[in-house]
Amino acid sequence: MFRLTPDPIAIEPFDSESAGGFVSFEGKVRNHAYGRNVVRLEYEAFSEMAVAEGDKLIAEAAKLHGLTKVQIVHRIGILEVGETAVVIQVAAPHRREAFAGCEWIIDQLKWRVPIWKREHFGDGTSEWVGIGDEKQVSQSNDAFTRQIRLPFIGEQGQQKLRDARVLLVGVGGLGSAALPYLVASGIGSLGIVDGDLVEVTNLHRQILYAANEVGRGKAERAAAFARRINPHVQVQTFPERIDSHNAERILADYDWIVDGTDSLETKFLLNALCKRLGKALVTASIHQMEGQILTVIPDGPCLQCLFPEIPQDGCVGTCSNDGILGVVAGSMGIYQATEVLKGILGIDGLLSHSMLLVDLRTGNSNRLTREMRENCKGCEGIVAELTPFVIQSLADAESRFGRFDIVDIRELDETPLLAVAHLRQPRSELGDLSNIELEGPTVFICATGRRSFQLVDQLRRAGKFDAYSLARGVEGV
Ligand SMILES: [Zn+2]
Repeated sequence: MFRLTPDPIAIEPFDSESAGGFVSFEGKVRNHAYGRNVVRLEYEAFSEMAVAEGDKLIAEAAKLHGLTKVQIVHRIGILEVGETAVVIQVAAPHRREAFAGCEWIIDQLKWRVPIWKREHFGDGTSEWVGIGDEKQVSQSNDAFTRQIRLPFIGEQGQQKLRDARVLLVGVGGLGSAALPYLVASGIGSLGIVDGDLVEVTNLHRQILYAANEVGRGKAERAAAFARRINPHVQVQTFPERIDSHNAERILADYDWIVDGTDSLETKFLLNALCKRLGKALVTASIHQMEGQILTVIPDGPCLQCLFPEIPQDGCVGTCSNDGILGVVAGSMGIYQATEVLKGILGIDGLLSHSMLLVDLRTGNSNRLTREMRENCKGCEGIVAELTPFVIQSLADAESRFGRFDIVDIRELDETPLLAVAHLRQPRSELGDLSNIELEGPTVFICATGRRSFQLVDQLRRAGKFDAYSLARGVEGV
């Protein structure tokens, strides 16, 4: 029987009436490795696979060496020096078989069972230790020979990938698909930002996570997945939600930023910061069976050149309320990884001056040209306000515009009457508000600020950028 435990291992009595030889092996944490001072160890396992492979190993050992009984217990989590990491107990009819069987298991366990070891050193640093032959494979170029063969990659291109620093903002549906290909291609340094925990409703599209990881931190689980592909990828995790306060710090060490969020506010924030810091951004959005993707490079048009204002919440669906098919997120995530690889390797055809629209239902795709827009705030690195058209008070409007109009959009029987200057016309004469002509900055007022917000959002989407909404409506006057 093979077992993983986060608790200290208590060695249990082990007997078998048909056996004459018993061997018990105990592996402990030692205080040094390769001349370095080790202060503790950390074991991480892909639990389901580890248990399945462990049980298979035991069955093979029993058959091969005639063992009558085998038990293996392996610790996971943090272990201090002197603590027991693994206990292997075997019983066989004779001592020789017991010794040979136990030794065989010790070796095979190390090679075959997916348990990863991280050594923490006295100087405060730590390192994942390759298990079995993965270390050797990934340190050489053997793992990448099939792509090095490509004329536009070669040894030089592989080195560029090894030197690359890529940040995944969000490891949901998009990031889950981008991460394995980026790591498998040999990207040297990966940052992972996500403050969420794995939820059961994520599993249909966020393929980095297993059912037994529900409730665990996404950033950490995604990092563990990356290390299983390549134990030598340098992974840094940021288990937090990115916002205007922490974004600059998180982005600082990375050259390529992959936006895997479904938040428009975050997309525009990353857009402006990447422009300000001279980094490249690959951003994608998905809606039901469609996806769109574009790349922002330091000297190309940005997201805000295309969308001068952040579209309002509710006008673009998110996965949680509109539903999403896993493969759509997956496809767009792989497009994002492709853009990053193209950018790093200098392959032509980057979506830096275009946007690709993909309809996975019909298989149609459309590449729209994008151009730089003059006086674009995003290009200047200024983070766009989510609601630049909400005016906090009429005094604010006065100082901002000098001259402006006010339109009261309440129903005729709503009170109190507005007694303010600049009132454009009586409510009874307004007619169809969606067609209203604006003669300069115009502040719309309703009872609470909600109806005016919706109207102004609608007017602005129709290109009427002189429309403003007064927060809190007549109360705010
Ligand atoms: Zn721009």
